[in-house]
Parts: sequence; structure tokens; C-alpha cells
Amino acid sequence: MVGKITDNFNWYECYNSNANGYKYFDLQFYDNVLQLSKMLEELREYTGEPINVHSWYRPVYYNDVVMPRKGYHTSTRSDHKLASAIDTSINPTVGVINKWKSICNRYEVSYSIGVYDWGMHLGFRNDLGNRQWTQDWYK
Ligand SMILES: [Zn+2]
Repeated sequence: MVGKITDNFNWYECYNSNANGYKYFDLQFYDNVLQLSKMLEELREYTGEPINVHSWYRPVYYNDVVMPRKGYHTSTRSDHKLASAIDTSINPTVGVINKWKSICNRYEVSYSIGVYDWGMHLGFRNDLGNRQWTQDWYK
């Protein structure tokens, strides 16, 4: 997968830059990538600023084995394994949080929102319900 997903998101952003060397992408998550990109475009329109991507898709082995080994907190139920979430350094204001909830509502998907001192996790996932957490509490 190369090139643009939507106007402002590219496939290389989906290939997790944190997962050095893991260029694998599972096509079963293709629709999640398209949907998340569309939703993020709407959020981008709201903030009026680019949404940078620190982490998007994480292969199972990278998320469940490599990251914990490196000392990163992660969840075996992470949305990143489904390519349905990003970590970004945009400011987790109340406005951004509420906008993400309303976008997810309109798409009829549950939201996942993580608030960190370095930015936030923005995702969606149907089967776990709505989730919101801070860096002190991992699901
Ligand atoms: Zn995340």
C-alpha cells in the first residue's frame, strides 16, 4: 500500500514508524484504515491543523511482544492491532474530545480516546464499546 489514503493521510503513516522493520500490513484491516482516515479528516477540519501520526497499525507481534519488551505500555486488546486508532501529539482539549465522540456517533461506531501528557489516542472499535482513559489507566 502506497500513496494517499485520503487528502491528508498517507499509507506510510499507517505503517507504524515505531515498528521499525515491520512493514507488514494485514489487508483484513483495509476498511478500518479508510474509515479512520475519513473520520480524522473531519477532525482535521475542526482543528484546522494537521494531525500527525506517531503510531497507527501495529502487527500483533510488535504490539504484544516487542513493545512490552521495550518498556512501552500497551494492551493486547489495542485498537492499533486492528488499524483503527492513531496516537497523535495534537492537544487533547475538551473540544477535540467531544468532536471525536460526535464523529464516532455519526459513523455509529464506539470511540476510544486516550489522554496523555504528550497528546492523545484516537480510535474507534465496535466490539468493546466506548472507552476513554488517561495515561494512568490502561484498558
Ligand atoms: Zn494508541
